[in-house]
Amino acid sequence: MVQEMRTILPGVRFVDVVGHKRIATVATASKSVYGERIIDGLRIWDPYRSKLAALLLKSRSPLPICLSIDSIVLYLGASTGTTVSHVGDIVRDGLVYAVEFSPRSMRQLLQLAESRRNIIPILGDAARPESYSRLVEPVDLVYQDVAQRNQAEIATLNSARYLKTGGTLVLMIKTRSIDSTATPGEIRGSEIEMLKGLEVLSVMDLLPYHHDHWAVVAKKV
Ligand code: SAM
Repeated sequence: MVQEMRTILPGVRFVDVVGHKRIATVATASKSVYGERIIDGLRIWDPYRSKLAALLLKSRSPLPICLSIDSIVLYLGASTGTTVSHVGDIVRDGLVYAVEFSPRSMRQLLQLAESRRNIIPILGDAARPESYSRLVEPVDLVYQDVAQRNQAEIATLNSARYLKTGGTLVLMIKTRSIDSTATPGEIRGSEIEMLKGLEVLSVMDLLPYHHDHWAVVAKKV
């Protein structure tokens, strides 16, 4: 049995599943995407599979992320759609532009989009935001999880081009993708300094769910 405890964002609940605290989204489609359980209309969101779930579980209110049911999201590094599917649940009347450059992952993402009308898969390179300018409109939130050496540069380019003023950037930094000689703290600091036109609101590690990963939340100024 699921007992609802708290709504933390529209469509996102903290729930109690037989004595265990979990996070879940209100399901907008009936099919499981990555083996997650759907109980009483709630899709249990695995923080070990999704850095966004880990961030939300670890965040204290008020959350630094603005998302509503009609938000428009640009998601960079969509992979096969694990987190994209939950974001799609949250912005049920909005849209998720999901950019991914691996054709293999894109095949699964396309299947996901067939059953979810608000997910727009884009086969593209997030480092070249101009290449999808004819497909993407101004967005309320940019979410980036690409594990590339130039993560901050990619986030800055996409935010400058697509993020509305006052909109939110959520950047997942994987420090080991950037430099294996500097300390994670040094890398994190220099990545944050490289973000341009953005005011950093919070920086959080994602332990114990994801090692060597940091979530940076920023606002476009
Ligand atoms: N965000 C996904 C989730 O939570 O379900 C997992 C993303 S996975 C860690 C990183 C993804 O970013 C990979 O699928 C990879 O192919 C993609 N990627 C890396 N560099 C990219 C780029 N420049 N443009 C688009 N996708 C990229």
